[in-house]
Amino acid sequence: MVVEFRNEPATDFTNQENQQAFKDALIQVQAEFGTEIPLVINGEKIFTDDKYDSVNPADHQQVLGRVSKASKEQVDQAMEAAKEAYKTWRKWTPHERAELLLRVSAIIRRRKHEFSALMVYEAGKPWNEADGDTNEGIDFTEYYARSMMELAHGKPVFDREGEHNQYIYKPMGPGVTIPPWNFPFAIMTGTTVAPIIAGNTVLLKPAEDTPLIAYKLIEVLEEAGLPKGVVNFVPGDPKEIGDHLVDHKDTHFVTFTGSRATGTRIFERAAKIQEGQNFLKRVIAEMGGKDAILVDNNVDTDLAAQSIVDSAFGFSGQKCSACSRAIVHKEVYDEVLEKAVNLTKELSIGNTDKGSDVYMGPVINQKQFDKIKNYIEIGSKEGKLEVGGKTDDSKGYFVNPTIFSGLKSSDQIMQEEIFGPVVGFTKCENFDEMIEVANDTDYGLTGAVITNNREHWRQACEDFDVGNLYLNRGCTAAVVGYHPFGGFKMSGTDAKTGSPDYMLNFLEQKILSEQF
Ligand code: GLU
Repeated sequence: MVVEFRNEPATDFTNQENQQAFKDALIQVQAEFGTEIPLVINGEKIFTDDKYDSVNPADHQQVLGRVSKASKEQVDQAMEAAKEAYKTWRKWTPHERAELLLRVSAIIRRRKHEFSALMVYEAGKPWNEADGDTNEGIDFTEYYARSMMELAHGKPVFDREGEHNQYIYKPMGPGVTIPPWNFPFAIMTGTTVAPIIAGNTVLLKPAEDTPLIAYKLIEVLEEAGLPKGVVNFVPGDPKEIGDHLVDHKDTHFVTFTGSRATGTRIFERAAKIQEGQNFLKRVIAEMGGKDAILVDNNVDTDLAAQSIVDSAFGFSGQKCSACSRAIVHKEVYDEVLEKAVNLTKELSIGNTDKGSDVYMGPVINQKQFDKIKNYIEIGSKEGKLEVGGKTDDSKGYFVNPTIFSGLKSSDQIMQEEIFGPVVGFTKCENFDEMIEVANDTDYGLTGAVITNNREHWRQACEDFDVGNLYLNRGCTAAVVGYHPFGGFKMSGTDAKTGSPDYMLNFLEQKILSEQF
């Protein structure tokens, strides 16, 4: 009997034992720096001559690992392996597959600090964010395993005189997982294990910036006894193999998390039927946000400021759910802004391997650094720079947490996804205008409302067009099983991760009707 689902608890870093265990893990992963990462096709490790480096964003000269790059031919081989493995994997019972994946989460749990420590180096995550990332990977695995067990016998449909009917769930075939670098363990794990628990097989192309942590999952899957070919690991240059993975005639689904540009490209390409393809591909896309916190009048302005700062600057704002717009009622605008600026001034920024008290690390890479820097220049023209604005890429990609005030909804800072520690403040006359401004974006992922007015909350529930809406808190940190996560509009296909429906993305429904 499988025990009830419980979320993996956060590590308490005020506890000295936990501090020490995490420091030990940081040292342990250092010993692996420079390691070579292979492709894994049909369980076979393939080291290619063509490689690229995974570097530490806090110290871009530090190479953490050398990663083999898959060619198109190797993608084809991986697809052949996935097709072959599918023939037998799909015949494992849902319980057998789920039980194997529960072994996977048990192994991750035992090694969790090692994984989190690696994310401190490879993604520049602060300790608590890295810990949350690993824990969420465990949660996804545990949750989806249970979901599949619940779907094992299908859902009830009616029988009638002389007729017995069954409504059951079947896997689809091989597919492709393209995860992001910002939750390099959690989302990568969730979007890999869900399709395989369903009985599909996968080609996993890890995010370019975070292949080492993705390879840890491959190690765990092998250790847990996953049959070869069920997950094939094909790191590589998206420009070389990205389209090929999506276009492949045997790709049944693509689960993607990342930028809007790539997501819409995948959506479009996957719609085209290739020669030899006799099914429609499914695309599950999660593509970003321009998330807002609305602050009404007559509220606790400390709570409002804290919610904005936490949601804007946690993991340097590199979350699809990050607050990048503060939409504030004119009566509390000055107070909330001042408090947010003061809180921001206290945030520590630096190399996150130095300790659990470093609030913010670097941003992920040069491209993101340059992009954020450019937006800071734009913001300085469009609004008033209240705090931050400083950038330094001499050693690592550091951007100070930045607040702009006095912005209009049409300003670029308020319209475009920055994916960095930058938040814009805008002032509104009343709650109707706040909702209007909140919806004045192509995205619809998360949002939060700080209000004590129940009518206004009800109005937001109806009219604020986002997939995840929160009251009197920040707009990040969705928890598996509590806050299924996914958005509307150009934020994606709203395939709510961590929800009771998520497994359906990777299943087909079949009716068996027999007469007697
Ligand atoms: N689920 C995360 C949160 O609620 C965000 C995921 C993402 O950035 O893609 O903060």
